[in-house]
Amino acid sequence: MPLHPCQACGACCASYRVAFHWSEADPDTGGATPAGLTEPLDPHRVVMRGTRAEPVRCVALRGAVGVATHCTIYPQRPSPCRELAASWEQGEPVAQCDRARRRHGLAPLTPADWNPVPA
Ligand code: SF4
Ligand code: SF4
Repeated sequence: MPLHPCQACGACCASYRVAFHWSEADPDTGGATPAGLTEPLDPHRVVMRGTRAEPVRCVALRGAVGVATHCTIYPQRPSPCRELAASWEQGEPVAQCDRARRRHGLAPLTPADWNPVPA
């Protein structure tokens, strides 16, 4: 079974600030993202730790970007992560995905990445 293209990438988790409303990291309001992996950004928002550092790398990311990565809080990841589709995953290119991959020396995904030709 081939890897999902994101499992051989992780570039977006090492490219962008991941900011979201604090309630997503507050269990009292139904938030699931672990608060300990976040830090305050402003009165309304927190960020995933590591994503406003330079170089950017989310504290929840494991592995080597462009080789093999995974998100250690995948089921609890915050909304910006849920909302970012990979290029061609839904039949169209996604500029944010392409930009992150280029930043890490990876070519943008193509439709063929989702329908690999059998060996
Ligand atoms: S940059 Fe694109 S392909 Fe890479 S992990 Fe993010 S969404 Fe997936
Ligand atoms: S929470 Fe997970 S999906 Fe979101 S940036 Fe961090 S490692 Fe990536």
